[in-house]
Amino acid sequence: MVRCRFCGREAVVYIPYTGYGVCSIHYSSFIEGKVVRAVKRYGLIDRGDRVLIALSGGKDSVVLTYILDKLSRENGFSIYLLHIDLGIGDYSRECRGIVGKIHSILGYKTVVVDIRDLLGLGVEEISRKTCRAPCSVCGIIKRYIMNTVAIEAKMDAVATGHNLDDIASYILKEFLHQNIEGMIKLSPKIDSVEDIAVKKIRPLYEVYEEEVQLYAKLNSIEYVSRKCPLKPTRSLEVVLKNKLNELEKMFPSIKIGFIRRFVKNLGKYPPIDYSSIRRCRVCGLISSTQVCSYCRLTEKVLGKPFGAHTRKYIRDLVEDIFS
Ligand code: SF4
Ligand code: ZN
Ligand code: ZN
Repeated sequence: MVRCRFCGREAVVYIPYTGYGVCSIHYSSFIEGKVVRAVKRYGLIDRGDRVLIALSGGKDSVVLTYILDKLSRENGFSIYLLHIDLGIGDYSRECRGIVGKIHSILGYKTVVVDIRDLLGLGVEEISRKTCRAPCSVCGIIKRYIMNTVAIEAKMDAVATGHNLDDIASYILKEFLHQNIEGMIKLSPKIDSVEDIAVKKIRPLYEVYEEEVQLYAKLNSIEYVSRKCPLKPTRSLEVVLKNKLNELEKMFPSIKIGFIRRFVKNLGKYPPIDYSSIRRCRVCGLISSTQVCSYCRLTEKVLGKPFGAHTRKYIRDLVEDIFS
């Protein structure tokens, strides 16, 4: 029988890349310790920070919320939650239900932005009208809303639940496409740009997907387990994730070694070209072109750019919640 390395009780899990087993209590502290180390190693959160967690209701963002809740007390930062209702039928209703439960359990101020209320359409209709893949339009909308809520609510950072497996497969995908700028943006944090973009952080950067799942199970954490119905069944990321998992089985710790070496070598890549960053001339937020991708997308779908309207809508929402 494998014993817990820390207390000698029966181990519930053997962690191949460390070479030891742990009981359920020490498994949770092991995972929380990984997040603490990532937060410190990569300078993600400072004492006194206001951190907005993007809470979708899926396992990663829910586990992130519970772990940051624990860490916030010892490390003196405050937490706020943001949920974006994407208007994807029952799936979105289920996600919103979980977010409502977490709000009542943890009591954090929670901003809910419903895109049907904001734009009159859900992600699927927007995708159809623009002839673009659902995840592509969804990504533009989510990134814009996260940043806008963070700006209007004066947050210091937006935390997302990307885990190690997500990051490793995205880095490989960008490498295969030789999109160097895209690769650099997969670092544990993307710094803020004054007044137009809030810092983005990824505290689960070194936590494997299966570790997130087991943490949720051992702590009886409820989350939405079904997949978004718009998620493509075949995508390069999924294939790469599966291949990386096969490699991990043969060579334990290859994934964590990969992303750590990636971060170490970031300084060797050409830096992000901040001179190309500007303010969108419609909404005034971050853009790499004259008009930001959200304003262009909404103009295509609704006949006029909705950035300025969205900022006003979110400002009113935030004022109501934070006053
Ligand atoms: Fe959005 Fe695609 Fe994720 Fe569904 S799978 S929530 S459409 S990014
Ligand atoms: Zn133990
Ligand atoms: Zn804009």
